[in-house]
Amino acid sequence: MSNKTIRKIIIILFSIIMMIVAGREFLIRLNQREPIVKGPGVTTIAKLSDYFEDIKGTIGDTDVYIMDGDEEGGTVLIISGGHPNEISGVLTNVLFIENANIIKGRVLLIPFANNSGFTAGHPGEAYPMRYTINTEWGSRWFRFGDRWTNPLHQWPDPEVYVHYPSGQSLSGFDIRNLNRCFPGRENGTLTEKVAFAITQLIKKEKVDMTIDLHEAEPMYPVINTIVAHQRAMDIAVFAEMNLSAYEGIRIGKELSPENLHGLTHRELGDYTDTFALLAETCNPIQDPCRGRTDENLLLTGKDDFILKAGKLGLLFVPFDENGSPVDERVGRHTSTVLELINSFSELYPDKEIIISNVPRYSEVIEKGVGHYLLEPEGNL
Ligand SMILES: [Zn+2]
Repeated sequence: MSNKTIRKIIIILFSIIMMIVAGREFLIRLNQREPIVKGPGVTTIAKLSDYFEDIKGTIGDTDVYIMDGDEEGGTVLIISGGHPNEISGVLTNVLFIENANIIKGRVLLIPFANNSGFTAGHPGEAYPMRYTINTEWGSRWFRFGDRWTNPLHQWPDPEVYVHYPSGQSLSGFDIRNLNRCFPGRENGTLTEKVAFAITQLIKKEKVDMTIDLHEAEPMYPVINTIVAHQRAMDIAVFAEMNLSAYEGIRIGKELSPENLHGLTHRELGDYTDTFALLAETCNPIQDPCRGRTDENLLLTGKDDFILKAGKLGLLFVPFDENGSPVDERVGRHTSTVLELINSFSELYPDKEIIISNVPRYSEVIEKGVGHYLLEPEGNL
């Protein structure tokens, strides 16, 4: 055998080993799901396919947690994981699911809205596969996904994505972006079908208010803010005032642009009777100018390059060496959700929703997210 042949064999063997190592990770990503504990307030765990059968048995189907209060009142839906790389929304929903006590009204929660997106990382971004939250009894792990539906489940992308039904042209890859696919399409792509199922759920359950939880990079202008459909603006205004007055949380409020289509705060407000709102916190791992991309950055939000960008005046949020830790981001979301619910209840007293046992901003920062995560039974 010549040296050349031996070299070729070594390269082929090395490639096979790399494929096995990577393939194993991809398989784990596709098949493993983090444990979520059914909290004392959860009445039923339904499926999104209960509202649109077409997605039954597909990766688009996802759990819907239903928490019925003791007294009748309004219904609120909390969505997270529309973008599976924005973790504070998922953790906020899990905190509600595992802790909340519903005294009046109903709370519906979809923690992993784009379930397919949780099975992939974004190519070339060096995203960690999962992250771990430490608790007093041990630790809990959660998947860290991609912003878009996994191309294994929906492919190929068109050159230009034409949003249904507005006809607006968007980037081709945004056809896999759940928050560009609302109100959804019955016979559309997987992502459009998931959006359609959520819209159907809102109609069938007569959801009075929908809150969609997100995160954004510090160089993006829509951050640390509430975006409201025009019918929901008064709810956002009261919530913003109370968050600032009673908890010292500085949060913006923005009106959903009428001509920006596919987003929850626009389409759910236009195509259903729900009051549609979206909240954003600051997640530095999403920022293109970040440095080392690992679990530490995801959870602490500390990054020297973003710090430098802040000193150059390039950021839309205050940012110092303390970073943007996950406890602070989740605390912002729990307080924002609770305050939106309070504002809604004050404005529409016949639809009042009362929730107890969910920690607010200062409590989450003081005790940490892990303090509020329950211990699952069995293997983790
Ligand atoms: Zn988002």
